[in-house]
Amino acid sequence: MTKDVESLASEMSVPTVRRVMSGMRPTGRLHLGNYFGALANWVELAKHHETYFEVADYHALTTAFDRTEEIAPGIRDVVLDWLAAGIDPERSVVYVQSALPEIAEMHLLLSMVVPVAWLQRVPTFKDQIAALGGEIATYGFLGYPLMQVIDIAVVRAGAVPVGKDQLSHLELGREVVRRFNNLYGPVLVEPEGLLSEFPDVPGTDGRKMSKSYGNGIEMADDAATTTKKVRGMLTDPNKIRRHDPGNPDICPVFKLHNIVNPARVPVIREECMSGALGCVDCKSECAERLNEAMQPIRERRASIDPASVDRILKTGAERAREVARPTLADVKSAMRM
Ligand code: SF4
Repeated sequence: MTKDVESLASEMSVPTVRRVMSGMRPTGRLHLGNYFGALANWVELAKHHETYFEVADYHALTTAFDRTEEIAPGIRDVVLDWLAAGIDPERSVVYVQSALPEIAEMHLLLSMVVPVAWLQRVPTFKDQIAALGGEIATYGFLGYPLMQVIDIAVVRAGAVPVGKDQLSHLELGREVVRRFNNLYGPVLVEPEGLLSEFPDVPGTDGRKMSKSYGNGIEMADDAATTTKKVRGMLTDPNKIRRHDPGNPDICPVFKLHNIVNPARVPVIREECMSGALGCVDCKSECAERLNEAMQPIRERRASIDPASVDRILKTGAERAREVARPTLADVKSAMRM
């Protein structure tokens, strides 16, 4: 716990500085769903807690084992977006998962004590299987929920930012830690969820913003591209002419207003429903607010030397291993290995 973080926490009336861990797959350039749905929260958490942020390249391998050429550039782009968003690598520990061999070894050791049924019942695991067409692709894919547990445990993080739908995932982590500690002694930290409200960010086609749907507005998009994408967004299909009354509750542009233009939401709702507001004007206002929100991020991005990413990740891995090495040593010692 650094003095700096400690004093900031007391100023903000935050009772305890905790070690918080979270990660993202190296999917390449991040979109606004990633930013508003996770990254903006990370930036806030880093102000009050000791934070470890991991680029989860092993997790990428579970589904992209036949496209490994995408992983290295994906790591670089993700880290650039993190830095642009305001993650400070001096304050937060930023590293790549595979740079910590302790994770792979601990995953192997804990795989011996985790029942297969525990992995199969994780809801997000079931979702992934459905997304992959009902097949468990590989042995590694089955173990990915355990790998996520190890990601947290290896740096002895006490808290993980989660949305309500991820609580059961975290529960697996808590169960694994309890089972390990019951078998071998109190070695691992049982993580708690830092419950956060993550906004549901709509893509340009109204579905959840997702790289796989190709409906994203990227964090790195310039103002003109962002405006063009917002102008192309679907709206209430029944609001055809400017003065037709609309239904904001089914309109993705309205959802974006909720995120970037909250003060104006009641008026926009009323004027949409009465027909006083047309979709063209509504979208222009939304694009303006969005561009205002993203402008500092764009400026920060322009000031980052891309070559600094390698150095940041090297330093981050060294810092993370300072915690991971003794954790693994304690695990092995407890297991008499
Ligand atoms: S006026 Fe705005 S909120 Fe209403 S349907 Fe059009 S874009 Fe959506």
